[in-house]
Amino acid sequence: MKSAQIRDAFLNYFAGQDHTVVPSSSLVPGNDPTLLFTNAGMVQFKETFLGQEKRSYNRATSSQRCVRAGGKHNDLENVGYTARHHTFFEMLGNFSFGDYFKREAIRFAWEFLTKTLNLPEERLWVTVHVSDDEAADIWLKEMGVSAERFSRLDEDNFWQMGDTGPCGPSSEIFYDHGADVPGGPPGSENDDLDRYIEIWNLVFMQYERTADGELHSLPKPSVDTGMGLERIAAVMQGVHSNYEIDLFQALLKATAEVVGCSNLEEKSLRVIADHIRSCSFLIADGVMPSNEGRGFVLRRIVRRAVRHGHKLGHQEVFFYKLVEALAEQMGDAYPELREKQQVIEQALRKEEEQFAKTLDKGMALLEEALDSLEGSEIPGELVFTLHDTYGFPTDLTQDIARERDLSLDMAGYEAAMEAQRQRARAAGKFKQDYTDILELDGATEFLGYSTTEAEGKVV
Ligand code: ATP
Ligand code: MG
Ligand code: MG
Ligand code: MG
Repeated sequence: MKSAQIRDAFLNYFAGQDHTVVPSSSLVPGNDPTLLFTNAGMVQFKETFLGQEKRSYNRATSSQRCVRAGGKHNDLENVGYTARHHTFFEMLGNFSFGDYFKREAIRFAWEFLTKTLNLPEERLWVTVHVSDDEAADIWLKEMGVSAERFSRLDEDNFWQMGDTGPCGPSSEIFYDHGADVPGGPPGSENDDLDRYIEIWNLVFMQYERTADGELHSLPKPSVDTGMGLERIAAVMQGVHSNYEIDLFQALLKATAEVVGCSNLEEKSLRVIADHIRSCSFLIADGVMPSNEGRGFVLRRIVRRAVRHGHKLGHQEVFFYKLVEALAEQMGDAYPELREKQQVIEQALRKEEEQFAKTLDKGMALLEEALDSLEGSEIPGELVFTLHDTYGFPTDLTQDIARERDLSLDMAGYEAAMEAQRQRARAAGKFKQDYTDILELDGATEFLGYSTTEAEGKVV
């Protein structure tokens, strides 16, 4: 089954269970100043869960575009290192707003996986929250799931969108990719390796967490589920890694051609193929590269992609050329990719050209310093110079460090940053120090962040 067919099968199955098919909302949450990007299918329904907004339906299903590259759910550092994480992905979901609860949510999920998609039960593992006897009974007694493939976990089975908002205990379904892949079952020591891959999370929305950390019961218990399209596509296409699915193979081939690399397994190719999706979709949704807020996250992702191109030995501007291949792959499901193709290409090209001017010099400086490095820590002064003079966001330097088993002296970096602020103040360049003030990013109507999100941007 192609990814597009799986998306359709999912939406059709839930439409058949009286769910209204709702289009994906923007990656820039229109309703939530505390959230950097839409990171789950439930984001556009947040007020409905909280009982603040009434909709004409009480069951919905969607395929939601998501970005996890900052804030509470941040997978930027995982890209290129795991088989299952992207910065941009599509989340298939079904939602109940005070309508059905645990029993139906579990039954729908099990039926879709084992009947519609025909997956063998022996490959599926299930977890519930330690306290959730009700969900445990439904799985073990009603669905007949084997106790051998079932476990109760704590933090992993409590889901929340951010530090505040709707949340609740969850039940997760994992797929066992088989003994050739290292990794242990959910809850075991090695469960973070990629043998048992989480495919679907069923959240039983029961609470709202407020800023004081307290949990309050929601007016009506609800359901929010999320299944990564790329992960279920890997299962259905009999491959282990998300990067081996139809859509990514096409993107990887296009990337390989553009940068002149023949090995599709190359980690840097995967990073670039991942990043072209998040960058293009963010620009399509109105975010532009900048030094603040959402635009700064976008800038960091573009620069990372460009650095990986250079790592593969490619010197010319290339990243924007991949928009075409992406539009070909995803333009049917997301027509805005085609409509805004030029805007996306121009923005990426400009950003890349700007960074290309300093990337080589910065890399040369770094290489030279690493040649004579004693110990395994890159000095903070250097990290700061790379950031300040050569436009290397610290996560980019961190990415290079990780490839070489080195770490960054972040305390030294902060000190160098502070020293520069002091100098600027002393020189009287500024009547006031503006560096800590969030600017409005003209294109995105940026509204501000919670503390966690703000931490995500301080780089
Ligand atoms: P993991 O533990 O693998 O990081 P998660 O528990 O953080 O996943 P959830 O927040 O439960 O993920 O999101 C619901 C579903 O969305 C997951 O079960 C998975 O199928 C998918 N998903 C989550 N993060 C990503 C990602 N970065 N890339 C692709 N798919 C993802
Ligand atoms: Mg995660
Ligand atoms: Mg998880
Ligand atoms: Mg999960």
